[in-house]
Amino acid sequence: MYPKISGALLRHWLTRSVFLLLGIVLLYAPFALLTRFILFLTGAPYTADVHRICLRMPIQWLAQPWMYGTMVEQPMYLVAILVLPLLALFVGPLFCGWMCPAGQIPEILSRFVPCRFQIDLAGKVNVAPVRYGFLVGLMATTFVGGNACCSLCNFTHTQNIISAGFGDFQGLSYWASFSIVSFGLWFVVLGLFTRGGRGWCNLLCPAGALMGLTHTIGSRLKIGRSIVVDPSRCRNCKTCVASCPAWAISDRAGDVAVNAHACNVCMDCVRTCPNKAITYSSTRSHGISPERAS
Ligand code: SF4
Ligand code: SF4
Repeated sequence: MYPKISGALLRHWLTRSVFLLLGIVLLYAPFALLTRFILFLTGAPYTADVHRICLRMPIQWLAQPWMYGTMVEQPMYLVAILVLPLLALFVGPLFCGWMCPAGQIPEILSRFVPCRFQIDLAGKVNVAPVRYGFLVGLMATTFVGGNACCSLCNFTHTQNIISAGFGDFQGLSYWASFSIVSFGLWFVVLGLFTRGGRGWCNLLCPAGALMGLTHTIGSRLKIGRSIVVDPSRCRNCKTCVASCPAWAISDRAGDVAVNAHACNVCMDCVRTCPNKAITYSSTRSHGISPERAS
């Protein structure tokens, strides 16, 4: 059951929604302002939409050295494998929790679906092996003659929906293919009908997996900022466990701990903890890793 929605949490969601709009305006056509800006600087003759700044293909290309030249010629592809993972190393996957429209839209809409109709995978699925396994599997499809990247792209679905909202329905024909299955998985099964609405992000997003990995490394090395629980303040009420859309907080044997592999730094738990026991802060200053914060 989701905890009571307070005014502070509503204001927090409103702030996150502003960043969501920023994500749409920066990444998605007809706006794609970030892409337009970079295309303007480089003079490259490409269409400005989310495909030009794809967060999936370059990750698959990591296993394809013959594609490295493309990434150097079109540096926007480096965002997925360099810029966002590097940022996540130091500040966590803020992009996932705050700006990614493909993650935030199903999360927001899932709040309108009654909990009794939703699958609750919190505590039932170990996120790390599934998401990293999928990441490796995605990269490996190249070697068995396949390409899972585009068929399983929730960024494309989000672009198609936004384009249709502005009168361009062409992208919707894309759904008359295997993509209808991935749309159903992303938006319906693992979105609206999964508690937190972040099932796809947690299990099947390679960009999220890469950021989860660097976030965890940053936390372990104590060089980054993470979600940290102060055990001296925690009263083990489990409000944070219920409020986490990414199933990243566990309560084992009375110890509350945050799983950096899964946490997308949305900070909902920071707002809902009634005892102010959770902060987004430097792991160095706490001297503890988030996994051991209990
Ligand atoms: S961290 Fe806060 S919300 Fe979570 S169990 Fe402890 S007191 Fe409750
Ligand atoms: S642990 Fe907190 S910050 Fe991390 S995903 Fe869960 S609610 Fe968001």
